[in-house]
This record gives sequence, C-alpha cells and structure tokens, in this order.
Amino acid sequence: MEGDKPTTLMCTLLAIDHTSFCYRVCSVCERTLPDIQSLCKFCNFNFNNSNPSSSSSKRLFRLLISIASDTNVFTVICFDRAAKVLFGCSADEFFDFTKLHPFAAVSANRILEGEMFRATLSKPKNGNAQHVRVVSLFPLRSGFQPAIESLKKLYGQRGDC
Ligand SMILES: [Zn+2]
Repeated sequence: MEGDKPTTLMCTLLAIDHTSFCYRVCSVCERTLPDIQSLCKFCNFNFNNSNPSSSSSKRLFRLLISIASDTNVFTVICFDRAAKVLFGCSADEFFDFTKLHPFAAVSANRILEGEMFRATLSKPKNGNAQHVRVVSLFPLRSGFQPAIESLKKLYGQRGDC
C-alpha cells in the first residue's frame, strides 16, 4: 500500500484471531471502558441521579484478521462495522452466543476461512496504531452467509450444543 489513501483489493480471509474479538464501551458515548468492572466516568457522572441505567456498557467488535491478496499476506484490524459483515450480528449477540457455545468463535473462524472479499484498507491515522485497518468488507461469493447464520444452523436454534 502506498501513501495514506485507502486501498481496495480482492482478498481471501485466512484466519480470524478468535481469542480476542471485542471490547467494551459505554453504551451512551461509546468511549472505551478500561476494564470489565468499570462504568463510564463521563456518563455515570452526568446521568447517575436522573437515570442510573443510562450508563451501561456494550461490546463492539475489534478483531485481527489475516488476509491474502494476490501478492501478499497480512494481518489487519477489523472494527465493528466491518466485523458485522463477517459475523452478521452485534458483538454483544456474538458474545452471548459464545457463552452458550464456547467453541463458536473457533467455529466462526473455520466457517469464514477461505471466503473472498473486496476489502478497503486504510493506514492507521494514529501513529501508535500498529495495524492497517479494514474500512469495509464486501463478500464476493453470492451465497455468502455471515458466521452467525451458519453457527445457528450448526448448533441448532434451540441452543443445545
Ligand atoms: Zn459514556
């Protein structure tokens, strides 16, 4: 990739790092929450008295994926919007699904492996960011199904493993 312009390329998904696929943010302002227990300082302070439930947390996708173009293999970071194309649900839904089915993230990796996408990638604007970011993903296979659809079929709708 040259310069700072986003690049669009055809790629094959090689692997998803399923060990860490999401992070927690404040459900109101979407600031990242530093750890599992914490509530958003900003919103909790503002909303505490009037509406204590307004400052809760939610999960957003953030995962590393390995992709191969025709010339290169690289690892890129995929945030919520692009990751939803892969998973077909919110990070919270997927997280709840993995609680019922501990191997769902591993299975999602297996399901999506080898799928081809048109990906738009951009270099990190923040100098500290290590990875090229996926701006958008567009599945190329006409029968593409997001992981959650295949997982629900795999595990059954009723949740028995
Ligand atoms: Zn907040």
